[in-house]
Amino acid sequence: MKTVWCLGSINIDLFYDVPHIPAPGETLAATGYREGLGGKGANQSVAAAKAGAPVCHFGAIGANSEWVIERLESYGVDTMHIALSNEPTGHAIINVASDGENAIVILPGANRTLDEKGLKAALSTAQSGDLLLLQNETNLQPEAARIASEIGMRVLYSAAPFDAEAIRAVLPYIDVLLLNQVEAEQLQESLEQSLFELSVSHIVVTLGADGARWISTQSGDSTETPGIKVEAVDTTGAGDTFAGYLAAGLARDFRPAEAMAFAGRAAALKVTKRGTADAIPTLSEVEAFKP
Ligand code: ADP
Repeated sequence: MKTVWCLGSINIDLFYDVPHIPAPGETLAATGYREGLGGKGANQSVAAAKAGAPVCHFGAIGANSEWVIERLESYGVDTMHIALSNEPTGHAIINVASDGENAIVILPGANRTLDEKGLKAALSTAQSGDLLLLQNETNLQPEAARIASEIGMRVLYSAAPFDAEAIRAVLPYIDVLLLNQVEAEQLQESLEQSLFELSVSHIVVTLGADGARWISTQSGDSTETPGIKVEAVDTTGAGDTFAGYLAAGLARDFRPAEAMAFAGRAAALKVTKRGTADAIPTLSEVEAFKP
């Protein structure tokens, strides 16, 4: 099996339960607090590892966050190339109001301090045919995508959070562009091009409860994986579960339709559980899931 190399963010998610979202100038006492592992990169690495792929994560954390490394390793992620930065570990301050509304502040911190020398050293052991998985919460995406494509790796880029400039910079080097429906619309508007006109071979658009679509721009073909009916209780991390499982499916040499169905089953199962990394289903749960 091929290795999934993930260049991605590692965040500590800090959840504060509050009666309501604080107004400007207001000070509120939280009624509850919990913290967990988050960040799109870490979530996608965990998903790919749970899907059974060898996963090597490239990223950075700050001081006093060793538990994050232990947590990633407990899911089977290789953390050898996670650097220690002088900046604080990336974190998200998530206020959750009693009516379910939330307001989030993210400090990218260490996630934006990745070093090109370290990246080159990490990828020097990658093999042609391995996968590189990227998102938009770190620095170095275009450099990583270019180096990976020169090695003959396949590059899967999850273009979230949306950033048209960042997408434009990596587009020449990637094989699969992964977007949700909102991001697909934003991209077409900002580039004034339809998805079929983009210079990337394959585009996957996830469609929430309606499943996902695989577009091959060269042939103009598009195939849909239908959504799976489940009782959704928490859709956070659905896209990351889909991305990690899709990467793992491609690492196992699944054909596109097979990899999409694999990712779709995992993401549908995820939305039936609350949480992110912990709630991402394992391979045996996905295999046992008979929708
Ligand atoms: P994101 O989480 O990035 O916004 P989507 O909402 O498109 O992305 O969800 C990603 C994938 O998760 C979908 O393609 C689908 O496979 C699955 N999914 C999301 N919401 C649901 C749902 N309500 N029911 C079943 N599957 C879902």
